[in-house]
Amino acid sequence: MVFDPYAPCPCGSGKKFKWCCQPIHVQIGRAFEQDAEGQHEAALRIMEEVALQHPGNPEVWGRQAQLLYENDQVDAAEAALQKSLDINPNYPFGYLLRGIFRKTEGELAGALLLFRKAAELYDPEAKDPLANVYALIGECELHLRRPLAARAAFQTSSRLHPTEELNKALTELFGDKSALPAAVRRSYTLMPLPASATPGERTAWERALSTATTGKLTDAAKAFQQLATEMPQEPAVWYNMGLIRTWLGENAAAIEAFDRYVSLEADEEKAAAAWNIAEVLRFGQGMEDQSDYVERSVLFQIRDPQRFFDFLNLWQREGFLYGVRFDQQQGTIAGIALDRSGLITAGAGAPQFPKLGAYLLVIGDMLRISNVNSDALDRVRQDIQERAGPSLSEAQLKRGPANFNDVVAEALVFPIGTTDEALVREKIREQVQLYFEEKWIHRPLRSLNQIPPIDAAGHPVLRKKLRGVVKFLRETLENIVEAYDFDRLLRKLGITEAAQAVSPSVDGEKPLAIDGMGAAELAELEPKALSDEQLDQAYRAAQKLDAHELAGRFAKAIVARPPRADRPDRFPWYSYLVQRSLFEGDTDAAMQYVDEGEKADCEQNEGRRRNDYELRRGQVCSKRGDAEGARDVFERLIERSPSELRYRGTAAEAMLSMKQGASALHFAEGGLAKAREQNDRDSEQYFMELVAAARKQTG
Ligand SMILES: [Zn+2]
Repeated sequence: MVFDPYAPCPCGSGKKFKWCCQPIHVQIGRAFEQDAEGQHEAALRIMEEVALQHPGNPEVWGRQAQLLYENDQVDAAEAALQKSLDINPNYPFGYLLRGIFRKTEGELAGALLLFRKAAELYDPEAKDPLANVYALIGECELHLRRPLAARAAFQTSSRLHPTEELNKALTELFGDKSALPAAVRRSYTLMPLPASATPGERTAWERALSTATTGKLTDAAKAFQQLATEMPQEPAVWYNMGLIRTWLGENAAAIEAFDRYVSLEADEEKAAAAWNIAEVLRFGQGMEDQSDYVERSVLFQIRDPQRFFDFLNLWQREGFLYGVRFDQQQGTIAGIALDRSGLITAGAGAPQFPKLGAYLLVIGDMLRISNVNSDALDRVRQDIQERAGPSLSEAQLKRGPANFNDVVAEALVFPIGTTDEALVREKIREQVQLYFEEKWIHRPLRSLNQIPPIDAAGHPVLRKKLRGVVKFLRETLENIVEAYDFDRLLRKLGITEAAQAVSPSVDGEKPLAIDGMGAAELAELEPKALSDEQLDQAYRAAQKLDAHELAGRFAKAIVARPPRADRPDRFPWYSYLVQRSLFEGDTDAAMQYVDEGEKADCEQNEGRRRNDYELRRGQVCSKRGDAEGARDVFERLIERSPSELRYRGTAAEAMLSMKQGASALHFAEGGLAKAREQNDRDSEQYFMELVAAARKQTG
């Protein structure tokens, strides 16, 4: 222990070390020297003597606590530490040491609070201990998944006492080669006050800013909080408050401030950049309720290792595991359990691209499986429990912060049976595109006030947030799925400048990228100017965007065109038009589409779709309340295809909806008999339920 004699004394008296505890520290130093030489008993004895001589000095008790702790006398150490804090409740080293105790026990959140308290209490001139405290704060924040707060703490530590080790760590974590998203690697600065401010506001602002850069962040946070009450309409106040809270690891409060900022900020680009930070904050520990990505995990204790590893080997041979790595030295197994819902075990040979079931990890006698997608995780858990249950303990379910890369977890595919890199890349791009453009786009997001992206674009504030969310996705995935172009997604959402730049040119010079268009662009398309192929693309694109009015318009234009020999089947479009008409309550139009479609099918498609049209006809009849007509249609349909259980089920359901209990019972019983004949258990169950419902109606 070497202390600068002119630095503030570590006891917290406020005096310089030289004129305060330096004499005592000569003895304390001797005790630690003895300890380092292995003379533990002697060391502890010296400390006891010092304590007897200076019982009212917190530094003596604090150092005794440190020495006791290093000698594994934890209880005695805690008692001595308590004494030091009883003497001086603002004794900074006491909080630092207690934080170290908690950190050693793995109590990171508790340790962090104590370190932050110590940072508050130390004199700003106590550079070495403060540098140490901030390095510890950084470590805790990093473990608690708050990399922006960790970075701020490491930088403060480095400013107080630069070390090569710390600088190297900073470069590795946040430098160019870091795997972290750009939103984490970027350095952020506080915003200046706009020119329109009054001189009084300017003075207060400058004071708050200088506190933030030279003094304690907590003081700066208070200063901006005060400014926010004085100029609540000033966006920069809220931005700075959000940023300072981010650096302090107060993620929830930081998001609140950024939320205010985004709603006030007129510049969409700047607002989006702030919401990009908010996305990073949602991945912090304790933010699970506010995040759109939460890791679910299941823990098992392996009770019968032999049996469990037999199962694991079998599982691997069956092709359910991918990329398994076995580390004998560490005693770990890591790999990926594939989602069986996308895996065909039988057709070996052909390339397959199953999705992520769960990440799998065995450490010692613990098995852990995890995924942000809880459905996929459940399937893996069920498989494990069914097949290896007796070798494992009860499942223990947990939820916690996700990793940044998990934003794409649902789209990940793993190549089986192929090493063709181009094919694999294309498959990955295709899946990512499918996921973002067809699933994600319709999913209510917490970062958008539970509004789906496709609807958020039309709202002035949510639109800014949406841009931030997409920015975050783009930056997070740029090193992982390089092939996917997020401009496509922005165009689908109708929120980019690029959308205007690539406005559809129907002059035939450039090929139209119709499947990448958003609803606004699709609405601009003139059906007459499109080829049959383009019209169908527009129809499908509109449908995927839930733009049903548009899709209906395109479908009508398609069926109005002359028949094509290469595409005789028009059922998908007619069926869609029937559905739309029913949805709008226009059963006459629905019936007309059934008639037209069936006629066209008969003339151009050898009547291949006759049954499908007739099924629709029965449904339209039932929607009209025409029980007689519906019954006739279904009877004829079943007569033609007696083994098709689907027709019988639809018939029974239609009759039930019209309160035709007797007819429903007739169809349901027919279906039940047929299901039993076919030995189809699931259908049998289904028809039994229909029979029961029909009986209820007949009373
Ligand atoms: Zn002192």
